[in-house]
Amino acid sequence: MPPPRALTETGDPFLLTPGPLTTSRGVKAAMLHDWGSRDPGFIALNRAVLAALPAVVHAGTSHLAVPMQGSGTFAVEAMLTSFIPRAGKALLLVNGAYGERARRILEIAGRAHLVLATAEDTPPDAGALAAALAADPAITHVFAVHCETTSGILNPLAELAAVTAAAGRALLVDAMSAFGALPLDARTTRFQALAASSNKCLEGVPGLGFVLCERAALAAAAGNATTLSLDLADQARALEATGQYRFTPPTHVIAALHQALAEFAAEGGQEGRGARYRANCARLIEGMGALGFRPLLPAALQAPIIVTFHMPADPAFEFPRFYEALAARGFLIYPGKLTVAPSFRIGCIGRVGLAEMDAFLAAAAAVLGELGVRLAPARAA
Ligand SMILES: *Cc1c(COP(=O)(O)O)cnc(C)c1O
Repeated sequence: MPPPRALTETGDPFLLTPGPLTTSRGVKAAMLHDWGSRDPGFIALNRAVLAALPAVVHAGTSHLAVPMQGSGTFAVEAMLTSFIPRAGKALLLVNGAYGERARRILEIAGRAHLVLATAEDTPPDAGALAAALAADPAITHVFAVHCETTSGILNPLAELAAVTAAAGRALLVDAMSAFGALPLDARTTRFQALAASSNKCLEGVPGLGFVLCERAALAAAAGNATTLSLDLADQARALEATGQYRFTPPTHVIAALHQALAEFAAEGGQEGRGARYRANCARLIEGMGALGFRPLLPAALQAPIIVTFHMPADPAFEFPRFYEALAARGFLIYPGKLTVAPSFRIGCIGRVGLAEMDAFLAAAAAVLGELGVRLAPARAA
């Protein structure tokens, strides 16, 4: 007999991953229409989506949301190559794969850069950033990742922003996995631009990135871009002039994001969503600990987005079998991406709550039994 299988209301497994995520029925239903990209109805819907995004981080008066078709990386690449001028130089704070991806983007774009790296379980240090900025007056921009999804670590964005502003440099932020869930206030944490996407904590479907752009800096960014399609200044100019995208927009994705933003507001915005994810994360770490799994990060560094667990040493624990058996029970988890330690990851974001976390923990306990794995309960970090 197959094991009992948890399924979403549309009969799919739960995605305990960093995105794409489990979405609500309402978000999926919003895609049951075809929209003409030049139709006034779609233009109004798109305008409403773009108007709602800056407010999530209190940036309604300071920043403009410029959308970018594609996955989150398209938005990050658009941000880096649109804001860093040809004569500019970036300092990249790297403690995981997404910081490393930014380095690769600048390498390809031929933009001068240097890297200040820390280990994947270590946040960037504000003092080291201040020293690096003092030592190199050629640096124009600092790049930081808010939550480094590689490990799930919370980087100290407010501190890094304060140091960057004090040194008179501009901050560019990859907030992909944090936007909408972690607190951020643009009135006190200064950034020139910040990139995020439709399919993480906003609980939309994948296909649209966006960049919140300081208005004056966006105007000054004209002519910087290294590509036509990723030029944020040009994208913003066209949208402002006509309400239309330069190239085909993902109409269904934008309609779904419109619905996702309504559900986000109904949940109490960032505070409500953040509280649900924090509760999910605490339950997950507690329950996995009772089963004998140790998280990589101490509680103070753990963002409530995705949790990295050490791979257990028991030779009976084979990750592919663990993964497959959980999938058979209706839960998709995520392999590790760390270089510091063998690990795997479990997301606590998307349209899931404590009931799903408890069902997952029961499934994990059953799978350990099935595999004949016996772990000693882990002590709290
Ligand atoms: C998900 C994510 C991205 C974008 O990844 P895509 O696969 O291009 O959507 C970028 N940065 C961080 C920190 C992320 O978590």
